[in-house]
Amino acid sequence: MEARGSFFLGNRQFETKNFDLPNPGAHEVILENQCCGICGTDVHIYFGQPGASDVNPPVVLGHEYSGRIVAVGDDVTALQVGDHVTVDPNLYCGTCHYCRNGAKQLCSAMEAIGVNRNGGFAQYSLVPAGQCLPVLPTLDFEAAAMSEPLACCLHGIDRAEIRPGMNVCIIGGGPIGLLMVQLARLSGAANIVLSEPVEMRRKIGLSLGADYAIDPTTAPMEQLMLRTLGRPGADVVIECVGIPKAAAQAFEAADKGATIVLFSVQAPGAAYAMDLFQAFRKELTVKTSFVNPDTHQRAVALLNSGRIQTAPLITHRFPLDQVEQAIEKQMQPDSIKVVVLPWA
Ligand SMILES: [Zn+2]
Ligand SMILES: [Zn+2]
Repeated sequence: MEARGSFFLGNRQFETKNFDLPNPGAHEVILENQCCGICGTDVHIYFGQPGASDVNPPVVLGHEYSGRIVAVGDDVTALQVGDHVTVDPNLYCGTCHYCRNGAKQLCSAMEAIGVNRNGGFAQYSLVPAGQCLPVLPTLDFEAAAMSEPLACCLHGIDRAEIRPGMNVCIIGGGPIGLLMVQLARLSGAANIVLSEPVEMRRKIGLSLGADYAIDPTTAPMEQLMLRTLGRPGADVVIECVGIPKAAAQAFEAADKGATIVLFSVQAPGAAYAMDLFQAFRKELTVKTSFVNPDTHQRAVALLNSGRIQTAPLITHRFPLDQVEQAIEKQMQPDSIKVVVLPWA
């Protein structure tokens, strides 16, 4: 069948054109794509950097998406035509050292739908059935498309090991930071401080469960922590911005004994000079977090149950032939989450 798709050509260029979609193989399905979010990773790819795996244009990007099943392969039993689903984009080899040791996200041969296989910025997509997770038919397709970033956040929250009663600081009030605020709330944080320079995002953060929303440009981080928490820092700090300065702020916002999760995708080679004596004195645990192994089902469960709000996060919508404009908008401070509606 024919489908219209937005192909990334490399070098900040896209071309919308028709392409041929093969019939689904025995274990594959065809989705009518409904909504696809722009990820920070897409912004990196746009500028020629790798995503979670390497990109070989031309390819249809878009790995945060939802759709309706319109065809199923002969051996697909768990899914039916008409089902509403969200896509887990990451395909693990299953045989490498990491896959065999319970760390599939570190797979040496990972592929991803919407990164090196055609993904969500098209009217239709061909997807292995096992990558599709059904959602309630009453769940909005825009909310369903948020399940992939939410699944990534769940992996980061698992690594943060928040215990009920802890103080948590989230650095950055973009789409990831605002999901993290909600997950920290669900994890039992006593106090949540959101650090974000843009007022509109601070307001939304407060409405989604942050107890305090601070502007990190107004005072040193330790002072802001003392003023809000009555402590020189938080027990858990999660960095969700993707610039070196935010990593520096995460270390400044950490109390003694804290765990820091550097969650964001930084540019290759990005670095900052850590005060090693301070790190020593604070006895810090520093972790990073990569993609979303086995967390997608929990993300769907949280969205189905209404425990996580996504509507306040989606600020801009673009049609299929404006993926480039959508990516540009995702970089602007007046947006939070930008989505592409592939049927528009
Ligand atoms: Zn993503
Ligand atoms: Zn592997």
